Amino acid sequence: MRIAIGGISHETSTFAKTRTTVADFEDGFGLYRGEEIIERFRGANICTGGFIDGAAKHGFELAPLLWGFAYPSGLINAADYAALKGEFLDRLRQAQGQPGGVDGVLLDLHGAMVAEGVDDADGDLIAAVREVVGPKCPIVVTFDLHGNHSERRIAAADACVNFDTYPHVDMAERGREAADLNVGTLRGSIRPVTALRRIPLFWGVERQITAHPPMDEVLEFVHAIEQRPGVLSVSVATGFPWADIPNMGPSVIAVADGNRALASSIAGEVADWIWERRETWRHGIQSVSDALRDGEAAGKHPIILADHADNTGGGAPGDSTEILQTFLDRKLRDAVILYIVDSEVVEQAHAAGIGGRLNTLVGGKSDPVQGPPVRMQAVVRALSNGDFTYDGPMYAGLTGNMGRSAWLEQDGVHVVVVTAHEQPLGPAFARTLGIHCESLKYIAVKSAVHFRSGFERFAGNIFNVDARAIHTHDFAALPYRRRPEPMYPLEM
Ligand SMILES: [Zn+2]
Repeated sequence: MRIAIGGISHETSTFAKTRTTVADFEDGFGLYRGEEIIERFRGANICTGGFIDGAAKHGFELAPLLWGFAYPSGLINAADYAALKGEFLDRLRQAQGQPGGVDGVLLDLHGAMVAEGVDDADGDLIAAVREVVGPKCPIVVTFDLHGNHSERRIAAADACVNFDTYPHVDMAERGREAADLNVGTLRGSIRPVTALRRIPLFWGVERQITAHPPMDEVLEFVHAIEQRPGVLSVSVATGFPWADIPNMGPSVIAVADGNRALASSIAGEVADWIWERRETWRHGIQSVSDALRDGEAAGKHPIILADHADNTGGGAPGDSTEILQTFLDRKLRDAVILYIVDSEVVEQAHAAGIGGRLNTLVGGKSDPVQGPPVRMQAVVRALSNGDFTYDGPMYAGLTGNMGRSAWLEQDGVHVVVVTAHEQPLGPAFARTLGIHCESLKYIAVKSAVHFRSGFERFAGNIFNVDARAIHTHDFAALPYRRRPEPMYPLEM
């Protein structure tokens, strides 16, 4: 038994102005080909790591094709998407021609990928894979929790599962689940059929955290349903709202054994359960000053501000300045911003050297919504080429790279200026510069939820704030033209 593995993963913000190219895949987690995929991801907590575990468990052979992940960003250019898809399919055809051929396919995708002219790029890729392998070869797909799912992708695959957790820590486990489904299908012990039900609502990011109510209740409900006879897997996707496309929004995917009516009734039952509780998934938005006021009143430090509207992990530019300006205006000390993306300032800092002084404008350069830039008279405290190792739990053991970076300080306000668009999942990169987040009083992170995986253990209080930036959670303020309507709570 030989199963092809690979994937092209991207969470695409159609509101971000910068386009995504093949080079962004190379600079992200990288593009890996053939055996490199196995070398890189054996034992790693990502879905492909789980596929590799599955091969060991079930004794199937792997045909590794192409794996790429670009950090979330704007639309993928049409030519770049076509190049990646073309290479993926070429490698799949080559694998078919090798001894053993291809009996099954496991795809590691995100679920919110949009290319120029291709709203449902995940669906487009899965359908193209189906065309190559034909109707009898099982295709099982893993998706992120934040997929915007479509009927097309569900119809093209035999089964789809998505992460249960946010922060995402169950990727390898979902990869193993997908491998089990694929092998079970090939051995004839199961016959997966998959149904999708979309839910027209905006799901507040703070209401998606797995460890806390109300999200833990959704998963408890879903896991109970998975125990019913004939049910193979049930996934809830909370959607990715910064994509102005017709299939934007949450959904439920149900996989049943040979029984299409059951899959569809389970998807409907879970979607109805979520819809009936729609007020539960709604979340108000909080200003920076309200959060600081509440944090000081509670008196527990560090106060962590999640600058979710500029979450680089969701494709935002990472250079919004409202929180930096607020920290400086209030003359806070022991305060840090992780991170501001500004390659111009990074170059100035490297030219000035450690201990050098800069009088410069920081951030607010990518889009007028993100600004204005902040005048800083700062000391360069440290410089870096950006290399670090994640210390978990997310991506534990994998290396990361923030690009050329610098630590600047002005009167107790510290700013880590970087060039890569990646959110802080934990304090690991800051530590490589010499910043010990555990002993600070105020920490702003350009992240919505994933930072919790590394910061929650020492946080005094955490506040998600809606500072001025392109990925506001005030959905009424986003310039949508093509999303589904009506959606709760805006039009219903
Ligand atoms: Zn996600």
